[in-house]
Amino acid sequence: MVLGMAMESELPHEKLKSIRQILDSEPLLPPTLLELLSWASTYYHHSIGEVIATALPVLLRRGLSAAATGEKRYALTDEAHQVPTETFQRSPLQRRLFQAMCQHAEGMQAAALAEVAENWRDAMKRLEARGLIRITEEPCLLSKSADRHLIPQRSPTQEEASATIRAALGRFQCLLLHGVTGSGKTEVYLSVIEDVLARGGQVLVLVPEIGLTPQLIKRFEGRLTAPVAVMHSGLNESERLCAWQAARTELAAVVIGTRSAVYTPMPKLALIIIDEEHDASFKQQDGFRYHARDVAIKRARLEGLPVLLGSATPALESLHNAQQGRYQLLSLPERAGAAQPPVVTLLDLRRLKLNEGLSPPLIEALQTRLLRQEQSLLFLNRRGFAPVLMCHDCGWLAPCKRCDARLTLHRDVRVSREAGSRERPFHQRSRQLRCHHCGAEAPLPVNCPACGSGNLHGIGEGTERIETALARLFPQARVERIDRDSTRRKGSLEEKLRRVHAGEADILVGTQMLTKGHDFPNLTLVGVLNADQGLYSADFRSEERLVQQLVQVAGRAGRADKPGEVLIQTFHPDNPVFAALAHHDYREFGRYALAERAAAHYPPFAHLALLRAESPKPDAALAFLRAAHTLAEALTEAEVVHLMDAVPSPMERRAGRYRAQLLVQAGERKALHDFLSAWLKRLEHEKRGRQVRWSLDVDPVEMF
Ligand SMILES: [Zn+2]
Ligand SMILES: [Zn+2]
Repeated sequence: MVLGMAMESELPHEKLKSIRQILDSEPLLPPTLLELLSWASTYYHHSIGEVIATALPVLLRRGLSAAATGEKRYALTDEAHQVPTETFQRSPLQRRLFQAMCQHAEGMQAAALAEVAENWRDAMKRLEARGLIRITEEPCLLSKSADRHLIPQRSPTQEEASATIRAALGRFQCLLLHGVTGSGKTEVYLSVIEDVLARGGQVLVLVPEIGLTPQLIKRFEGRLTAPVAVMHSGLNESERLCAWQAARTELAAVVIGTRSAVYTPMPKLALIIIDEEHDASFKQQDGFRYHARDVAIKRARLEGLPVLLGSATPALESLHNAQQGRYQLLSLPERAGAAQPPVVTLLDLRRLKLNEGLSPPLIEALQTRLLRQEQSLLFLNRRGFAPVLMCHDCGWLAPCKRCDARLTLHRDVRVSREAGSRERPFHQRSRQLRCHHCGAEAPLPVNCPACGSGNLHGIGEGTERIETALARLFPQARVERIDRDSTRRKGSLEEKLRRVHAGEADILVGTQMLTKGHDFPNLTLVGVLNADQGLYSADFRSEERLVQQLVQVAGRAGRADKPGEVLIQTFHPDNPVFAALAHHDYREFGRYALAERAAAHYPPFAHLALLRAESPKPDAALAFLRAAHTLAEALTEAEVVHLMDAVPSPMERRAGRYRAQLLVQAGERKALHDFLSAWLKRLEHEKRGRQVRWSLDVDPVEMF
């Protein structure tokens, strides 16, 4: 990547590389985007080469020219329609393709053809050689949906929010749209997007990975007449390049994408929207550790346009910025239509006896829903059957050999219901121990390795165990489990969601995969099984995450004509987290949590950077960080920052590597960055650094 030219260089001659070939006739990235990337390189203290590599589609990184072709569409020629099917008597594969294509006059793309026959390409070549096939190429944009959605009646608060955003077009401004779940944030986005498109502008919409649901895409397709490109991790590399090109050449007016789409070149960009702005997946957790929301805000500033952050549960940082007047706060305090917020009730586990993780009031509420033929959702953030396998005679707990963690017991049971049994389970092995941190798998021991007893039992509940318990309690109910294990096969999540929407499921059991982007109109009960997991954790963000998750999952209950109910099982009903939840007042939680952060000097009242190191050798990581600490003390820049001690990470050993971390805290952002620059220069020459793998995380989101 050539960024500039110079007549001389400080680098030794042998380190310089010569330009062998110029691949593109024009610069790939516009100046504003290069400026953004150069800012990101400085801000995250990451090399500009890797930063630019992140911003480019993989195929361009590999040296392919940016003059990309579109996606191929195969259709029958006019003559082909006269050909009788019997012609292909001797080639069943060609006949199958031919027949499928007869039914698709508009043509078919690779994905659809692969559904007809996995090895379709050779047969297609033969058909093509006979002059029966016409190939066209098209940019990778969403196909226009035939059924146009009607514009719903907008509430006065929705209109007001749209008007404020519209008024901000054409200049930099950061707006925070805080709308309760079901308040119609997407409708506000769409109405402003339509305005921008009418003026000839482009819009970039960033969503979390699990928020990019088929439902969301359909909604955009159904409403916007302009071409939309989608960018997410499920695309293959040529599809990604194709979408990138469509944005760059203005073929696509709207780009909907996950994290890395923030770097998409869009010459007419007029608005950036970040949906679920609080979501942790906007932060890249390895390599170039940028935060897409923060990069988007910087981009909006550089390009002089507004950026809209939307959430039912804004990040505390964003709430704080709104309180300080840096962001303009817009509110949608009520659910759209006549819908009422769900009634939240706490179930005090100190007084209730659990039946495999389910309390009597929750079981009764499930029963009522079954009788009324309404759907229920049980939420717990724990995959597998039981989180620990324990020997009841000596107390042995099955450990992971490579991590400081326990193995999770998986049973992969299949509930004997038609709905559930139609698909083959992904893991054919039935009982197994698995590590959720490194992926290691082990067979279930028959006897305890410590004392030889056969008295081994799973302790605690995971989604699989709840699924089994429900099958026993409600043999007539159709249970659908949705977690990472049950949706591993491509298309299985879509199929499960389809069944839920079609009313072919009564009870959903799932992890946080279920908390976002799904509207289930017939769902009236949400049960939270282990709300306490996020309380009293070592990570200062865990409480915020718990509340965000609970608000999101509670928001699945009830819609216009059917009021919802939320039952939360907890051992700590007095925790203020739950009060805010019951009052439907997220900002009440925000006020109390921000006061705590201020007292503890945590973000947004301080700026953090985390230096991490890891090594297969037990003490190498810690030794390097201790050396780093000593180096820092010698720097004058260190006088205005606060360095914690180097400590082993909360889970020290993971996948066979020993990990340690060192936290730097500063009141002023500039002071932090001045220190980091000086420090990193020294660290690069520290010889202990060569024996470990180390990285710097600016504004860390995960503290592990
Ligand atoms: Zn034992
Ligand atoms: Zn492990």
